[in-house]
Amino acid sequence: MTTQQELLAWVREFARQVTEHRDELTALDSAIGDADHGANMARGMGAAVEALHADPQTTAGGVFKKVGMTLVSKVGGASGPLYGTLFLRFGTAAGEVTELDPAGFAKAFRAGLEGVVARGRPEAGDKTMYDALAPALDALDESLAGGASLGDALRAASAAADAGRDATIPMLARKGRASYLGERSVGHQDPGATSVALLVAAAAATLG
Ligand code: ADP
Ligand code: MG
Repeated sequence: MTTQQELLAWVREFARQVTEHRDELTALDSAIGDADHGANMARGMGAAVEALHADPQTTAGGVFKKVGMTLVSKVGGASGPLYGTLFLRFGTAAGEVTELDPAGFAKAFRAGLEGVVARGRPEAGDKTMYDALAPALDALDESLAGGASLGDALRAASAAADAGRDATIPMLARKGRASYLGERSVGHQDPGATSVALLVAAAAATLG
């Protein structure tokens, strides 16, 4: 079982990691975007941690909806609405519960992915956050179905997210600002896929 306290620890760890990697995310976005992904994520997740401190939430749904609403309201561009929708849908699917079992966790996380798809219409190979998140959640489901613990399944998901992130390098961007570059987007790692790999790594470090 993953408790609401552990989910909070995940959110805090993700905030810590995007802050630690802010310059790297910014450098990636300066190559194929507008150099704000590090600032967007660090500012948004910092505000989310503050909002949870100011208005503590007692359920999994409460925690993630608070994070999602903060990101939607505080972060512009593509990543605010996309990450905001991810967390809002995750929270709605998790519900007003204080614990999630591994299957419930994976199902709620997948609802978050479906929110990203509904919002941004990314497809596999478009060079977006989807290319790290979709394989990560497939690995999570597959590992859990094979009898793995949540911790082991999240470590497999993290490895899949890292591989998905790396696989964005040769891709030609078809969504977001990077798509304006056409062929010139090839050879660069997608910033959103990079922050997603941090999100899944933070989950592996704090849950299960
Ligand atoms: P912006 O592009 O508005 O400056 P960010 O730099 O914060 O926003 O985020 C850029 C990231 O958002 C990209 O690296 C990509 O992963 C993701 N992204 C952009 N558009 C889409 C989309 N339509 N679907 C999924 N992800 C997207
Ligand atoms: Mg940007």
